Order: sequence, then C-alpha cells, then structure tokens
Amino acid sequence: MQLLLKYRVVIRGSIEVVWFTGGIKILKHICPICGYEELTQAPYDTDGNESFEICDCCGFEFGFDDVHDGHTFETYRNKWISAGATWFYKQSEPEIWDLNQQLKNIEKIQPMYVPFYMRTKSTE
Ligand SMILES: [Zn+2]
Repeated sequence: MQLLLKYRVVIRGSIEVVWFTGGIKILKHICPICGYEELTQAPYDTDGNESFEICDCCGFEFGFDDVHDGHTFETYRNKWISAGATWFYKQSEPEIWDLNQQLKNIEKIQPMYVPFYMRTKSTE
C-alpha cells in the first residue's frame, strides 16, 4: 500500500520538460549532485521522500548519503569532484564525457529538490 502510493507520486512528477530554442526536450531525472540526466526516478518525490536510487555517475544514494552520512548536495559534490569525479557505475560512462557540461544540467532542475529533512513545513 505504502509502495503503491509512493509510486503514484513519483509518476506525477516524473518528467521534467526543458525548453530549448529549437523546441522541447523531455529529460529523465537529473541528479542534483552531478547533473547526470538518466536517473530512472525522481531523487525525491513531491513530499521530499527519497528514491534510494544510486546515481550511476556520482554514486550518491538518495536517502543514504544524505540522511545517514549527513551530506548536502554541495558537500557530496565537492567531495566527489576532489576525489577525481569518477563514475560509480563505469558501464554507464559515455565515451565522450564532459563533467562541466553535465554539471550545467543541475540548473535545469526547477524547482530544486528539497529532501523531507530540509523542509521547514509541509507544502501540501
Ligand atoms: Zn549523480
């Protein structure tokens, strides 16, 4: 029952539409840490509940690295970049990959995800 409810919420917020000069591009979910745009689920749903998905690129697990290791998106990103910005799941790494280009995807996340523990009050 709980799972079904969460699934529905994720579906509702599942597609991010980004306008480009040439038209509309529909993206999968963007990782708020590294900008990887192939996440299969929203990292946090509209209530801020975590997906527990692990990003193929930076390896951040939504609901673990934040809640249990105390990282914010920024502290984890800085740590990951200073450690060499290596791919967590090597098989997903494109042949040509530009970290700075990928980081720009983060700006496309509107509004930025707010995990439940960072919310001051419920918005719904
Ligand atoms: Zn990531």
